[in-house]
Amino acid sequence: MEVFDIVIIGAGPAGSTAAWHLSGQGLKIALLDKKSFPRDKVCGDALSGNTIFELKKLEDKGLDLSFFEVTENAYPVDGWSFFSPKGHRLDLFLPNEQKITEGKLKYPGFVSKRFDFDHFLLTPLRKTANIVVFENCEVKQIDFHNDKVKIICADRDLEAKLVLGADGANSILARKLWREKIDRAHYSAGLRQYFRNVKFEREKQLIELHFLPEILPGYFWIFPMADNVANVGIGMLSSEIEKRSINLKAVMKDIIQHHPKVSSRFHKAEALESPKGFGLPLGSRKSQVSGDRFLLVGDAASLIDPFTGEGIGFAMKSGRLAAHFILSKWGYHDFHNNQEYDEMLWKKIGGDILTAYRIQKLLRFPWLFDWVVKKANSSPSIWNLLNRMVWYPSERQNLSNPLFYFKVFRKS
Ligand SMILES: Cc1cc2nc3c(=O)[nH]c(=O)nc-3n(C[C@H](O)[C@H](O)[C@H](O)COP(=O)(O)OP(=O)(O)OC[C@H]3O[C@@H](n4cnc5c(N)ncnc54)[C@H](O)[C@@H]3O)c2cc1C
Repeated sequence: MEVFDIVIIGAGPAGSTAAWHLSGQGLKIALLDKKSFPRDKVCGDALSGNTIFELKKLEDKGLDLSFFEVTENAYPVDGWSFFSPKGHRLDLFLPNEQKITEGKLKYPGFVSKRFDFDHFLLTPLRKTANIVVFENCEVKQIDFHNDKVKIICADRDLEAKLVLGADGANSILARKLWREKIDRAHYSAGLRQYFRNVKFEREKQLIELHFLPEILPGYFWIFPMADNVANVGIGMLSSEIEKRSINLKAVMKDIIQHHPKVSSRFHKAEALESPKGFGLPLGSRKSQVSGDRFLLVGDAASLIDPFTGEGIGFAMKSGRLAAHFILSKWGYHDFHNNQEYDEMLWKKIGGDILTAYRIQKLLRFPWLFDWVVKKANSSPSIWNLLNRMVWYPSERQNLSNPLFYFKVFRKS
């Protein structure tokens, strides 16, 4: 039996970020993962606002961000292209004067294979004092006792005072302990397929979100990467997939081969893999994220943005917040009741997520999306308004406010 203060299950962005923020405080930490790194994780690989913010916080803890100076590691992007249901395109990007010119993160966003990005976050932790990284270590069982937790993996047993569940969408803690069923209204299914030689037509490198009518309230994406590779995928609400008996792989294939707005981009493209799927636990309702001697972070805590499908930034943020919660209580709190963590996490993240949920719901009115995109393309002031919402999440709530549409109407 190996004894630790804290065991973190899962070494994705949530688990590694928590370990970074817990390091250097004298606590003995085990960070374990069922896979050995580098490992693939099905994802769109897009790193935007929230992730960049958290990376800067980790730089303060000693993470070397030179990784982002190599295009093959992390392909820089200028912003987003939204394609409305009727195919109107709206490009939102940071105006030149607002571009970041200092530091190693010179772009507002990047596309980085999780194979590389997660390995980059984890690697320095292998050499960090008081952190032991166990790979190929799948947690099979967790036994809670009054004064400790026993974590049973395939080939070793660990003991800790507290467990951090950073084990993603299929979290053993979130699922097996609570036997929580997936609520399909708050869960999406996604597919990813890497392609080479997809046609791009712009000067600016933008990540593209195509809100095709067939898959609303989901979208089809094309994200540019180095070496003419693109991350291509589709994400859709699980309740809609079930209601409409949709075969997502067949829909994605059909879009790539036949969709009038998209297929011409793929005439010379070569698929580098077959489509791979994974679930997205959305943060569109408040979930319980703690229990007796455990806290959940990242996808295990269901924190994915219900509009964009982004979860890496919130995973990292929750890892940081959980670490701060633990450090602020260590020594005098017994971690039996961690309700305070639930409240704090929701206070810091819930507002942004609920705004995204309201926007997701607006996708029930595709004509509204088309109308706003058309207006933004013909009115610089509306474009500015929408652009600010992309870069400053606090302004996003405008989108779910009827007054915003009145403003658009008046300015048109
Ligand atoms: C198709 C798709 C596209 C997406 N696109 C984007 C995007 O472009 N941008 C974005 O920001 N987000 C995106 N997301 C969401 C993003 O992938 C997740 O939010 C993010 O990976 C969450 O990080 P995490 O650390 O919580 O979990 P994960 O990254 O899933 O890490 C969990 C880790 O736990 C390990 N683990 C699991 N079970 C056990 C066990 N029993 N024992 C030990 N280890 C275990 C796993 O091996 C894994 O390494 C996408 C998701 C999907 C499915």
